[in-house]
Amino acid sequence: MPHETPLISLLVAGLGLAFVMGWIAARLRLSPILGYLVAGVIVGPFTPGFVADAKLAAEVAEVGVILLMFGVGLHFSPRELLSVRAVAAPAALIQILVVTGIGAIIGVMLGWTVAGGVVFGLALSVASTVVSLRALQERREMQTEKGRLTVGWLVIEDFAMVLAMILLPTWATLRGEIDAGGAVTALDFQDAASAIALTFGKVILFVLIMLVAGRRFVPWLLHQVVHSGSRELFRLAVLAIALGVAYAAAAIFDISLALGALFAGLVMAESELSQQAANETLPLRDAFAVLFFVSVGMLFDPMILLRNPGPLIATVVVIVIVRTVLGYALLRLLAQPRNAALSITASRSQIGEFSFIIAGLGASLGLLPEAGRDLVLGGAIISICLTPAVTWLADRLSTAPSEPTASPGPVANAVPRPARAVLVGHGRVGSVIAAALEADGAEFAVIEDKEELAVQLNGRGVFAVAGNAASADRMRTAGVERADLLFVTVPDGFEAGRIVEAAREINPAITIFARAHSAAESEHLRALGADLIVSGEKEIADAMIAASMALISRKHPPTA
Ligand code: AMP
Repeated sequence: MPHETPLISLLVAGLGLAFVMGWIAARLRLSPILGYLVAGVIVGPFTPGFVADAKLAAEVAEVGVILLMFGVGLHFSPRELLSVRAVAAPAALIQILVVTGIGAIIGVMLGWTVAGGVVFGLALSVASTVVSLRALQERREMQTEKGRLTVGWLVIEDFAMVLAMILLPTWATLRGEIDAGGAVTALDFQDAASAIALTFGKVILFVLIMLVAGRRFVPWLLHQVVHSGSRELFRLAVLAIALGVAYAAAAIFDISLALGALFAGLVMAESELSQQAANETLPLRDAFAVLFFVSVGMLFDPMILLRNPGPLIATVVVIVIVRTVLGYALLRLLAQPRNAALSITASRSQIGEFSFIIAGLGASLGLLPEAGRDLVLGGAIISICLTPAVTWLADRLSTAPSEPTASPGPVANAVPRPARAVLVGHGRVGSVIAAALEADGAEFAVIEDKEELAVQLNGRGVFAVAGNAASADRMRTAGVERADLLFVTVPDGFEAGRIVEAAREINPAITIFARAHSAAESEHLRALGADLIVSGEKEIADAMIAASMALISRKHPPTA
């Protein structure tokens, strides 16, 4: 049976086992990614039992990579990157250089070529965006200075890896020629230069087309689709653009699918609808990203842990200890406070998806030996396991009293701030609340999906942000981080739930009032973090009951 329907078997076994293993990992307070990798090892060829179709798994994983890279592009914010470049750029680049150097030395000591060592070192030098970002979100540090710096560092690292992905194939071709032809001549260097020029020429042409045509066409297309009013079509449009651009990049320009997807994301990030686009692709991206990790796990032979532990231990030491110490030292040299430096380096103490992509590319080009790829996979698995321990240690060290933390305390608390409210939706419910807040002289902001309405409100001097309040970006613009109170007056309970959840994430202390229509909706909203839920239907019934009771008791006064 499994052989008749390999794709279905792969999806069922991969997603099913990933779910079980991911859940176990989460219960153990480890990253679910670890569970997905283990699920891959279980359905892989190195363990007994069911073996999924490896070729199919690799292809499905590629879709995962496309969607992951699309997400990286979509979330890229040049403004945020610029604000941290002075620290993030030197830290990222120096760390990449040093770790790549160490990796190359280890590789050569293991008897590989220098090229193999360099690929190995590159793979060890880049932290997992997925794991680090998740750690930041869990600690609610995304919007802090630390969070921005971590994200900036990751983005620069990701771009450096993208550059490596562009150059590696050329390098491999050249090495092949040199190996075949023997000595390196001036002609070889000329070949090398022209090969690199050709590669960059193609990339630049692709980027130019995306910047000139893509930047106009993609937002225009999304805008048209939005006006069709169909959510399904919008999702489909986003997906078609991401996959289509990636495929065209590979088919026409010889650029990797991943890089093409990154640019599709970057182009879409320019559009106002980008946050919505990101939300729309999230479920699919998650599913395929899981399959990506499963397929990576399938490549891993757990026996290398026993057969040859020495190099693996060295790999883990480089990832967890050398990189953490180096990162901490760099941040301190760049004048970052001790606690921030500790927590940033701790969140980066593992390797992940980019390492797999680089190692996979290196292996397929014949640069990295199979053993190297196994070491990268083993190192990733162990380092992801160790991340909670490293974070715990960093927390321990950072509470040390040697450096007083900047106290935001008494002064800020002593000055009473005006109540700041954010109102989501300015319809039948929201407009009444807005009128009351205005009459009261309270400071407030409105987030309204209907653009015309938001523009109209701004014209009247009410601070209104146009867009879907479920987007963290809209919330921040409205100032949810600093607000005391949030009114969620949108009528759709599911939508309201997303908004409540996102708001809680951004501001754990905010008081949230939400609107519901049924007991089930109220329960859903409460579970997601709403403090007070008012159900319109129940209020109507209560008002009718109260009024009718008064009437009845007037007509038929109770006999004493
Ligand atoms: P009403 O049901 O008359 O109170 O209107 C609800 C208002 O909320 C309308 O003006 C909608 O445009 C607005 N709205 C609905 N969903 C959202 C959302 N996700 N973000 C912001 N505003 C929204």
